Amino acid sequence: MKKIIWEVQSLSLLPVLRYCKKCGRKNLFTCSRQFRINSQRRYLDIWLIYKCSDCNSTWKAAVYSRISPQALKLELLDGFYKNDNELVEKYAMDSQFLQANGVEVSLPKYSVIGDCFSLNEAVQLEIKNKYSLSVKVSSIVRNKLLLSEKEYLQLITSGKMKSIPNQNLKKCKLKKGVTLVFDNELQMS
Ligand SMILES: [Zn+2]
Repeated sequence: MKKIIWEVQSLSLLPVLRYCKKCGRKNLFTCSRQFRINSQRRYLDIWLIYKCSDCNSTWKAAVYSRISPQALKLELLDGFYKNDNELVEKYAMDSQFLQANGVEVSLPKYSVIGDCFSLNEAVQLEIKNKYSLSVKVSSIVRNKLLLSEKEYLQLITSGKMKSIPNQNLKKCKLKKGVTLVFDNELQMS
């Protein structure tokens, strides 16, 4: 059986959804790629700064609160001061970090990298979702293989497409990833 891997790649940092006081409604906030560091007495506070997409109001995601500078490696501290890109992405692509800061993580623009295939082939397809973007398996498969909703449902009801382990492919979200098997032989069994 042919093995194919698709990877869901985010085309931007994760946008977050939160209530904006100035706008008076829930709005998208985007990452500014800047950290802010405050030192108070012997402690540091480090935040990653987000801006409301409509009014530029700022929101701060707490990275470290009241931490002793000695507790951080010099390189790391330097990275925060320099707004190091890798360090920004480490936090700004981490849904759990953002959720722990009390915001909803919204879906960024994304693309799915990997080879297409014909439904006449027997294929084991692994879909990877490194950043746990909240997307449905059905929309990824349908968009990539150009299937109508009816054609997609047909794959499920005929048994030609299955997931390992078995999930509800009409509804389920991708989470960290999924493995699908496309096989005409499955229809018989
Ligand atoms: Zn606003």
